[in-house]
Amino acid sequence: MTDRMALSLAQADPAVAEALDHETLRQHEGLEMIASENFVSEAVLEAAGSIFTNKYAEGYPGRRYYGGCEFSDVVENLARDRAKQIFGSEHANVQPHSGSQANASAFMAVLQAGDTILGLDLAHGGHLTHGHKLSFSGKLYRPTFYHVDRKTELIDYDELEAIADREKPKVIIGGASAYPRLWDFARMRQIADKVGAVYIFDMAHIAGLVAGGAHPSPVPHAHITTTTTHKTLRGPRSGLILCGEGLAKEIDKAVFPGQQGGPLVHIIAAKAVAFGEVLRPEFKTYAAQIVANAKVLGTSLQEAGYRLVSGGTDNHLLLVDVFEKGILGSEAELALGKAGITVNKNAIPYDTNPPLKPSGIRIGTPALTTRGMRETEMRLIAQWIGKALEQRNDDVALERIRQEVAELANRFPLYAWLRAPVAVSA
Ligand SMILES: *Cc1c(COP(=O)(O)O)cnc(C)c1O
Repeated sequence: MTDRMALSLAQADPAVAEALDHETLRQHEGLEMIASENFVSEAVLEAAGSIFTNKYAEGYPGRRYYGGCEFSDVVENLARDRAKQIFGSEHANVQPHSGSQANASAFMAVLQAGDTILGLDLAHGGHLTHGHKLSFSGKLYRPTFYHVDRKTELIDYDELEAIADREKPKVIIGGASAYPRLWDFARMRQIADKVGAVYIFDMAHIAGLVAGGAHPSPVPHAHITTTTTHKTLRGPRSGLILCGEGLAKEIDKAVFPGQQGGPLVHIIAAKAVAFGEVLRPEFKTYAAQIVANAKVLGTSLQEAGYRLVSGGTDNHLLLVDVFEKGILGSEAELALGKAGITVNKNAIPYDTNPPLKPSGIRIGTPALTTRGMRETEMRLIAQWIGKALEQRNDDVALERIRQEVAELANRFPLYAWLRAPVAVSA
């Protein structure tokens, strides 16, 4: 009998190993421009793939429900302390498995079932967990929504205030998955205070920019700040909650045992590593470059004749209104995919097209910035995007662009072990 512990993945499960090889090549050869994605370091990968995956550690450091947690305590304390240091927060809970679970826990900490919440409409850039009817947040609580202004495409704080006055929500939640502009945290807090609501800010998309000083921080304004750790923050796929001492107990209880059982200790270890990277000076440079790249990409696309929602960007993402040029977001996503550029179709505010065939695409720069690309590459990529959209029905032209894209990608290796072009059998 073979010793199963001694087998490599390729030996133990060739089907999964092959998919992994193909995915490695896909990530290396293409241009990853999905605004919510990034590439973690090899150290973060190593921690995430480590034997901490074997450990049960229900509870919190120093008060666990299992034995053998002394090293789990070490990594969870490191992750918590580093998160607090990065964001200047009194308390951090690093156990949420994802951004959605961080939000579920934050709500659970301060709401009862049936309470009213006020969030940004999904169709205007909000997130499912901010009250959408198919999400726990819209089923368990009573959702109401604010919007962006039809003309400026910026958050309409006057409308937000009017709704808050009328509906008296228990929670006002800020944050978005597709909003290219800055938020007025102080105004939101002022409105929350006026109606007696808890102000939660979900900084999932911008957390890395906030950490790197390339974006104002919601943490001093919000009662509770939630985030994912795998977007601009460049950690493993996971969640994080920050709050003041006053809410710490409620938050911790809501995460465990409220929403989750055993924490993913391997992912908490990976979060500790990622947060350590964020604390280094290079991360500031990285965050600033993400924003610089997005600005250049945006102006280059505008020069090529494309309309950007809100007229530009202050952060890491662009919403491009491709329908103004007669192209559906779904068509654009497909054509760019064939050209080796991965983006996602996205509704634009007040979209007249249906969600599966929306008017826009969302483009982000965090992942390519991690690979070392800068303004020069952004201008080149904007040209390719323009060409691919024009020639969207010409597969030969799209394939030609894909080869140019792969050449560029090869000059910016994803990982050191990918420096030589990787060969994968078809
Ligand atoms: C991505 C995102 C989330 C959810 O994160 P998951 O880890 O996918 O659950 C929550 N809120 C916002 C604003 C997001 O962009």
